[in-house]
Amino acid sequence: MFWLIEVWLNMWDENIKDHPYIRGVKLIDGKNNFPISWLNQQGYCEYSIFLEYVQGIETAPTPEMQKGQEVHQQLEDQFKEKAVSTTFQEMMHISKGEDILSRELYVFSAKYGIRGMIDEIWLTPDEFVVIDDKPGTIAYESMVNQVLAYCLAFKDTVDGDIRRIRAALRQRGTDNIFWTVEFDENAETKIKALLQRMQDLFNGSKHFLPTDNPRKCAKCRFKDYCEFK
Ligand code: SF4
Repeated sequence: MFWLIEVWLNMWDENIKDHPYIRGVKLIDGKNNFPISWLNQQGYCEYSIFLEYVQGIETAPTPEMQKGQEVHQQLEDQFKEKAVSTTFQEMMHISKGEDILSRELYVFSAKYGIRGMIDEIWLTPDEFVVIDDKPGTIAYESMVNQVLAYCLAFKDTVDGDIRRIRAALRQRGTDNIFWTVEFDENAETKIKALLQRMQDLFNGSKHFLPTDNPRKCAKCRFKDYCEFK
């Protein structure tokens, strides 16, 4: 069964404020809240986050980004043709008795300061599988961090549901899951440490560090603006 879930967080809630100088960061309950997808960028080069969201530098999307968005949209359109609309609560309830697949599930955690869209999630009576679609078949650390953060946000959302959570990376446009791990205590500890670092960056107590890998700089869309290239 396929289910389409309505977005259930109002991002224009009066208690949610924009960060005064970091574009895309919201202040919620006094904590910086940022898009989980930034963790992929953080793993590539933290300094690019500074250039894009603190300094406000805009660049054209790369061909890889455009291709990724196209494939993503195609999958989304195909899914909507056969999906049934419901609420998050109803989906969770039904999944205790039957398997459910959902896409573009919005997750939000004020506690951990993160929000984002899970590409696809399988909800079964025994476990949840949180899937992030990626180009290629190499599980880079940045991708792993991103999907672990989705798991943490989801876990926080369904607080009290003891079903196992599994993280997975899948080759975009295919059924090939090329990396998976249970979201256990070790995984949770690891991602929480990274989220604390992100908070430290946003608070200014740590600096956004540039990569020391010149091959990354050679392909970076910010290289024309970067003093470290
Ligand atoms: S040019 Fe290199 S150091 Fe600068 S933002 Fe890009 S990847 Fe980072």
